[in-house]
Amino acid sequence: AKKEGKNKIVFFDREKYETVVQTISIEEQLEKAIKKDEFILYFQPILSVKNNSIKAFEVLIRWKTEDGQIVLPEKFIQVAESTGQIKEIDKIVVLKVLKLIKKIENKKIKFPSKKGRFKNVSRVKFSVNITPRFIKEFVSFLTGLTEEDRKILSKNVVIELTERESFEVYTEKESINRLKKMGFKIAIDDFGTGYSSLSYISELKINYLKIDKIFINKMLSDRRVHRLVQSIINIARTFGIKTVAEGVETKRQLEELKKLGCDKYQGYYFSPPVSQEEFEKYIG
Ligand code: C2E
Ligand code: CA
Ligand code: CA
Repeated sequence: AKKEGKNKIVFFDREKYETVVQTISIEEQLEKAIKKDEFILYFQPILSVKNNSIKAFEVLIRWKTEDGQIVLPEKFIQVAESTGQIKEIDKIVVLKVLKLIKKIENKKIKFPSKKGRFKNVSRVKFSVNITPRFIKEFVSFLTGLTEEDRKILSKNVVIELTERESFEVYTEKESINRLKKMGFKIAIDDFGTGYSSLSYISELKINYLKIDKIFINKMLSDRRVHRLVQSIINIARTFGIKTVAEGVETKRQLEELKKLGCDKYQGYYFSPPVSQEEFEKYIG
């Protein structure tokens, strides 16, 4: 402890200090990464539970550092959100997706199935993650694009919104409605965790609810979690919202989700996220 002023004793908070130091250093490195274009995209298929056809690919960012290391989002997204750098990063992701959509236009995608055969993919969408806190800026970024590019995006992109810290999705109703007017589909990510709430689904015109992987993971071993998943699916259905289960790793989980009437799924059971390099091998 050290003295501060006359009668105040302040304890040096090592943990907090380290977090601050780490944040500053990640912030600087991110600044460089943005300038040097070190972000790359991975793609994970989202499939129909009913017939196992590929409906979409979720776009997941990775940071490829100078020395070739692949850094996962858990290491930098939160820092980027706190510094605001995520605004720039999310734009970069969307522009890369736009470029990819143009590249695969009129081409066929054949994605390998578990059995080594190939699945034809048609009319596929791309699901991108956008931090809700900066959704206003994101909307004006879209407004600044050419109408043609905006149309290409809105036709092909689902916007996933996660709340890690507060009720931003709820307070940004207007921006979400503008995105919907532009033609984008909206998903609420990590539903049931964090701050996502039931009021969203009655007041915002959401298209998808994504059921978080922690629930899918426990669904078969905990009856209460099983009932929770069932409730989420039933509530969603009441409002005409589709459900997407995340983190499906086993056949049993998939079969259970089918019984419960879940619409779509993604997870290691069918495929982990694959690099853009690999993804592009499947474009013919
Ligand atoms: P998320 O949106 O919930 O993405 C799903 C995460 O689950 C991904 O982690 C994915 O790789 C992982 N996953 C997929 N299948 C399985 C499975 O079967 N089992 C398990 N245990 N995990 C599975 P990832 O790629 O590390 O991304 C972490 C989070 O970072 C994402 O969570 C998302 O919230 C955020 N994120 C990723 N890319 C972006 C981005 O471009 N912008 C923003 N704002 N956030 C992003
Ligand atoms: Ca997501
Ligand atoms: Ca999620």
